[in-house]
Amino acid sequence: MLRAEPPATAGKRRATKHGSGSGRGPLVKRLPSAPVLLGIAALAVSIGGVLTVNDVAPAADSDHSGITRAASALGGASGQGTVSARKDTVTRDSQRDAQSDAAGQQLKDAAEGLAAEHASAIKKLAGKAEGYSKVLAQDLWEYPLEPVILTARFGQYGLWSSYHTGLDFNGNTGDQIHAIANGEVISASYDGSYGNKTVVRLEDGTELWYCHQSAFMVSVGDRVTRGEVIGLVGATGHVTGSHLHVEVHPGGGDPVDPYTAMQQHGLF
Ligand SMILES: [Zn+2]
Repeated sequence: MLRAEPPATAGKRRATKHGSGSGRGPLVKRLPSAPVLLGIAALAVSIGGVLTVNDVAPAADSDHSGITRAASALGGASGQGTVSARKDTVTRDSQRDAQSDAAGQQLKDAAEGLAAEHASAIKKLAGKAEGYSKVLAQDLWEYPLEPVILTARFGQYGLWSSYHTGLDFNGNTGDQIHAIANGEVISASYDGSYGNKTVVRLEDGTELWYCHQSAFMVSVGDRVTRGEVIGLVGATGHVTGSHLHVEVHPGGGDPVDPYTAMQQHGLF
Protein backbone atom coordinates (compact mmCIF):
# COMPACT_ATOMS: atom_id res chain seq x y z
CA MET A 1 0.00 0.00 0.00
CA LEU A 2 0.97 3.59 -0.36
CA ARG A 3 2.55 5.02 2.71
CA ALA A 4 4.15 8.40 3.29
CA GLU A 5 4.04 11.35 5.62
CA PRO A 6 1.94 14.09 4.02
CA PRO A 7 3.35 17.59 3.78
CA ALA A 8 1.82 19.63 6.55
CA THR A 9 0.78 22.39 4.18
CA ALA A 10 -1.32 20.18 2.02
CA GLY A 11 -3.19 18.82 4.99
CA LYS A 12 -3.82 22.28 6.39
CA ARG A 13 -5.02 23.59 3.09
CA ARG A 14 -7.46 20.77 2.86
CA ALA A 15 -8.61 21.16 6.41
CA THR A 16 -9.27 24.85 5.87
CA LYS A 17 -11.28 24.15 2.79
CA HIS A 18 -13.27 21.61 4.59
CA GLY A 19 -13.99 24.09 7.36
CA SER A 20 -15.39 26.55 4.88
CA GLY A 21 -17.67 23.94 3.48
CA SER A 22 -18.97 22.69 6.77
CA GLY A 23 -22.32 24.39 6.50
CA ARG A 24 -23.90 21.35 4.99
CA GLY A 25 -27.29 20.29 6.07
CA PRO A 26 -27.97 17.00 7.76
CA LEU A 27 -29.08 15.42 4.53
CA VAL A 28 -25.59 15.21 3.03
CA LYS A 29 -24.85 11.81 1.66
CA ARG A 30 -21.78 9.93 2.62
CA LEU A 31 -18.77 10.28 0.43
CA PRO A 32 -17.44 7.23 -1.29
CA SER A 33 -15.00 5.21 0.74
CA ALA A 34 -11.26 5.81 0.49
CA PRO A 35 -10.61 2.90 -1.91
CA VAL A 36 -13.18 4.29 -4.31
CA LEU A 37 -11.56 7.70 -4.09
CA LEU A 38 -8.21 6.15 -4.74
CA GLY A 39 -9.55 4.59 -7.88
CA ILE A 40 -10.93 7.90 -9.02
CA ALA A 41 -7.68 9.59 -8.08
CA ALA A 42 -5.76 7.10 -10.15
CA LEU A 43 -8.06 7.81 -13.04
CA ALA A 44 -7.54 11.53 -12.58
CA VAL A 45 -3.79 11.08 -12.62
CA SER A 46 -4.00 9.03 -15.75
CA ILE A 47 -5.92 11.71 -17.59
CA GLY A 48 -3.45 14.34 -16.53
CA GLY A 49 -4.90 16.88 -14.13
CA VAL A 50 -7.98 17.71 -16.11
CA LEU A 51 -9.89 18.16 -12.92
CA THR A 52 -7.52 20.59 -11.22
CA VAL A 53 -9.78 23.52 -11.98
CA ASN A 54 -11.96 22.35 -9.15
CA ASP A 55 -9.15 22.86 -6.75
CA VAL A 56 -9.08 26.57 -7.48
CA ALA A 57 -12.80 27.14 -7.25
CA PRO A 58 -14.32 25.02 -4.51
CA ALA A 59 -17.19 23.10 -5.89
CA ALA A 60 -20.68 23.94 -4.93
CA ASP A 61 -22.33 21.81 -2.34
CA SER A 62 -22.85 18.69 -4.25
CA ASP A 63 -22.22 15.13 -3.48
CA HIS A 64 -19.48 15.03 -6.04
CA SER A 65 -17.42 17.90 -4.68
CA GLY A 66 -15.48 15.68 -2.36
CA ILE A 67 -14.63 13.31 -5.15
CA THR A 68 -13.57 15.94 -7.63
CA ARG A 69 -11.48 17.74 -5.07
CA ALA A 70 -9.78 14.59 -4.02
CA ALA A 71 -9.13 13.75 -7.62
CA SER A 72 -8.00 17.21 -8.54
CA ALA A 73 -5.50 17.30 -5.74
CA LEU A 74 -3.81 14.37 -7.39
CA GLY A 75 -3.83 15.71 -10.88
CA GLY A 76 -0.25 16.13 -12.02
CA ALA A 77 1.08 15.79 -8.50
CA SER A 78 3.75 13.46 -7.24
CA GLY A 79 3.20 10.14 -5.53
CA GLN A 80 3.52 11.84 -2.21
CA GLY A 81 0.80 14.21 -3.10
CA THR A 82 -1.39 11.33 -3.93
CA VAL A 83 -0.93 9.83 -0.54
CA SER A 84 -1.46 13.12 1.23
CA ALA A 85 -4.64 13.70 -0.66
CA ARG A 86 -5.83 10.30 0.23
CA LYS A 87 -5.12 10.72 3.90
CA ASP A 88 -6.69 14.12 3.87
CA THR A 89 -9.73 12.72 2.17
CA VAL A 90 -9.96 10.01 4.74
CA THR A 91 -9.88 12.65 7.46
CA ARG A 92 -12.61 14.59 5.72
CA ASP A 93 -14.52 11.42 5.34
CA SER A 94 -14.31 10.50 8.95
CA GLN A 95 -15.44 13.96 9.97
CA ARG A 96 -18.22 13.85 7.48
CA ASP A 97 -19.10 10.40 8.54
CA ALA A 98 -19.38 11.47 12.13
CA GLN A 99 -21.57 14.36 11.13
CA SER A 100 -23.48 12.22 8.70
CA ASP A 101 -23.86 9.42 11.20
CA ALA A 102 -25.31 11.78 13.76
CA ALA A 103 -27.66 13.28 11.21
CA GLY A 104 -28.50 9.87 9.90
CA GLN A 105 -29.29 8.65 13.36
CA GLN A 106 -31.55 11.64 13.91
CA LEU A 107 -33.31 10.95 10.64
CA LYS A 108 -33.58 7.31 11.51
CA ASP A 109 -35.02 8.13 14.90
CA ALA A 110 -37.44 10.58 13.34
CA ALA A 111 -38.44 8.06 10.70
CA GLU A 112 -38.90 5.37 13.28
CA GLY A 113 -40.93 7.75 15.40
CA LEU A 114 -43.13 8.59 12.43
CA ALA A 115 -43.50 4.94 11.52
CA ALA A 116 -44.51 4.09 15.04
CA GLU A 117 -46.95 6.99 15.09
CA HIS A 118 -48.34 5.91 11.75
CA ALA A 119 -48.73 2.32 12.86
CA SER A 120 -50.41 3.45 16.04
CA ALA A 121 -52.79 5.71 14.11
CA ILE A 122 -53.68 2.90 11.75
CA LYS A 123 -54.22 0.58 14.66
CA LYS A 124 -56.51 3.11 16.27
CA LEU A 125 -58.46 3.57 13.05
CA ALA A 126 -58.77 -0.16 12.60
CA GLY A 127 -59.97 -0.45 16.16
CA LYS A 128 -62.48 2.31 15.58
CA ALA A 129 -63.73 0.71 12.39
CA GLU A 130 -64.05 -2.60 14.15
CA GLY A 131 -65.87 -1.02 17.03
CA TYR A 132 -68.12 0.86 14.67
CA SER A 133 -68.99 -2.24 12.68
CA LYS A 134 -69.75 -3.99 15.95
CA VAL A 135 -72.05 -1.14 16.92
CA LEU A 136 -73.66 -1.27 13.50
CA ALA A 137 -74.09 -5.01 13.72
CA GLN A 138 -75.71 -4.60 17.12
CA ASP A 139 -77.80 -1.74 15.84
CA LEU A 140 -79.04 -3.41 12.70
CA TRP A 141 -82.73 -4.03 12.90
CA GLU A 142 -84.80 -6.71 11.32
CA TYR A 143 -88.30 -6.64 9.83
CA PRO A 144 -90.86 -7.98 12.28
CA LEU A 145 -92.86 -9.56 9.48
CA GLU A 146 -92.00 -10.69 6.01
CA PRO A 147 -92.88 -10.13 3.29
CA VAL A 148 -92.99 -6.48 4.23
CA ILE A 149 -96.32 -4.94 3.24
CA LEU A 150 -96.94 -1.56 4.78
CA THR A 151 -100.58 -0.62 5.15
CA ALA A 152 -100.40 2.59 7.13
CA ARG A 153 -97.63 5.05 7.72
CA PHE A 154 -96.69 7.26 10.64
CA GLY A 155 -98.59 10.56 10.73
CA GLN A 156 -101.43 9.41 8.51
CA TYR A 157 -105.02 10.27 9.40
CA GLY A 158 -107.65 7.61 9.01
CA LEU A 159 -109.78 5.66 11.35
CA TRP A 160 -107.61 6.85 14.25
CA SER A 161 -108.88 9.66 16.38
CA SER A 162 -105.55 11.42 15.98
CA TYR A 163 -102.73 10.87 13.57
CA HIS A 164 -101.23 7.43 13.27
CA THR A 165 -98.39 7.01 15.75
CA GLY A 166 -96.85 3.93 14.23
CA LEU A 167 -96.21 1.84 11.15
CA ASP A 168 -98.55 -0.95 10.11
CA PHE A 169 -97.29 -4.21 8.68
CA ASN A 170 -99.90 -6.30 6.95
CA GLY A 171 -100.19 -9.83 8.28
CA ASN A 172 -102.57 -12.65 9.02
CA THR A 173 -103.64 -13.68 12.45
CA GLY A 174 -101.16 -16.24 13.69
CA ASP A 175 -98.20 -14.97 11.65
CA GLN A 176 -95.04 -14.89 13.72
CA ILE A 177 -93.78 -11.53 14.91
CA HIS A 178 -90.00 -11.29 15.11
CA ALA A 179 -88.11 -9.01 17.45
CA ILE A 180 -86.85 -6.04 15.46
CA ALA A 181 -83.84 -5.63 17.77
CA ASN A 182 -82.29 -7.04 20.92
CA GLY A 183 -83.76 -5.82 24.16
CA GLU A 184 -85.68 -6.54 27.30
CA VAL A 185 -89.41 -7.03 27.55
CA ILE A 186 -90.75 -4.35 29.90
CA SER A 187 -94.43 -4.85 29.20
CA ALA A 188 -96.64 -7.56 27.69
CA SER A 189 -100.31 -6.96 28.26
CA TYR A 190 -103.60 -5.76 26.81
CA ASP A 191 -103.67 -1.98 26.33
CA GLY A 192 -106.98 -0.64 25.04
CA SER A 193 -106.92 0.36 21.39
CA TYR A 194 -103.44 -1.15 21.06
CA GLY A 195 -104.81 -4.56 21.96
CA ASN A 196 -102.22 -7.03 23.13
CA LYS A 197 -99.05 -5.00 23.24
CA THR A 198 -95.49 -6.02 23.93
CA VAL A 199 -92.91 -3.34 24.72
CA VAL A 200 -89.24 -4.14 24.31
CA ARG A 201 -86.65 -1.70 25.60
CA LEU A 202 -83.41 -1.62 23.65
CA GLU A 203 -80.00 -0.96 25.15
CA ASP A 204 -80.11 2.69 24.08
CA GLY A 205 -83.40 3.17 25.88
CA THR A 206 -85.55 3.11 22.76
CA GLU A 207 -88.85 1.32 23.32
CA LEU A 208 -90.41 -0.72 20.52
CA TRP A 209 -94.12 -1.46 20.66
CA TYR A 210 -95.68 -4.48 19.01
CA CYS A 211 -99.49 -4.17 18.98
CA HIS A 212 -102.75 -5.98 18.15
CA GLN A 213 -101.21 -9.40 18.79
CA SER A 214 -103.30 -12.53 18.99
CA ALA A 215 -100.79 -14.13 21.34
CA PHE A 216 -97.79 -13.23 23.48
CA MET A 217 -94.70 -15.40 23.23
CA VAL A 218 -92.57 -13.52 25.79
CA SER A 219 -93.02 -12.16 29.29
CA VAL A 220 -91.86 -9.11 31.20
CA GLY A 221 -88.19 -9.43 32.08
CA ASP A 222 -87.34 -11.65 29.12
CA ARG A 223 -84.33 -10.77 27.04
CA VAL A 224 -85.18 -11.00 23.38
CA THR A 225 -82.79 -11.40 20.51
CA ARG A 226 -83.30 -9.78 17.15
CA GLY A 227 -85.27 -12.14 14.96
CA GLU A 228 -86.67 -14.10 17.87
CA VAL A 229 -90.42 -14.81 17.72
CA ILE A 230 -92.05 -12.66 20.40
CA GLY A 231 -95.72 -13.06 19.54
CA LEU A 232 -98.34 -13.67 16.85
CA VAL A 233 -100.16 -11.25 14.59
CA GLY A 234 -103.74 -10.55 15.54
CA ALA A 235 -106.56 -8.05 15.42
CA THR A 236 -106.92 -7.14 19.09
CA GLY A 237 -107.70 -3.54 20.04
CA HIS A 238 -108.88 -0.86 17.67
CA VAL A 239 -108.38 -2.39 14.25
CA THR A 240 -110.26 -3.16 11.05
CA GLY A 241 -108.22 -6.22 10.26
CA SER A 242 -105.23 -8.24 11.36
CA HIS A 243 -101.91 -6.46 11.19
CA LEU A 244 -98.94 -5.53 13.31
CA HIS A 245 -98.76 -1.96 14.52
CA VAL A 246 -95.19 -0.98 15.45
CA GLU A 247 -94.21 2.11 17.38
CA VAL A 248 -90.78 3.50 18.19
CA HIS A 249 -90.32 5.60 21.32
CA PRO A 250 -86.76 6.88 21.75
CA GLY A 251 -85.91 7.00 25.44
CA GLY A 252 -89.45 5.85 26.19
CA GLY A 253 -90.74 9.27 25.11
CA ASP A 254 -92.94 10.41 22.25
CA PRO A 255 -93.21 8.17 19.21
CA VAL A 256 -91.17 8.87 16.11
CA ASP A 257 -91.66 7.62 12.57
CA PRO A 258 -90.71 3.93 12.71
CA TYR A 259 -89.95 3.99 9.00
CA THR A 260 -87.19 6.57 9.51
CA ALA A 261 -85.92 4.80 12.60
CA MET A 262 -85.80 1.54 10.70
CA GLN A 263 -83.95 3.20 7.86
CA GLN A 264 -81.39 4.41 10.36
CA HIS A 265 -80.91 0.82 11.39
CA GLY A 266 -80.41 -0.60 7.95
CA LEU A 267 -83.94 -1.35 6.84
CA PHE A 268 -85.88 -0.14 3.79
ZN1 LIG B 1 -101.17 1.12 13.26
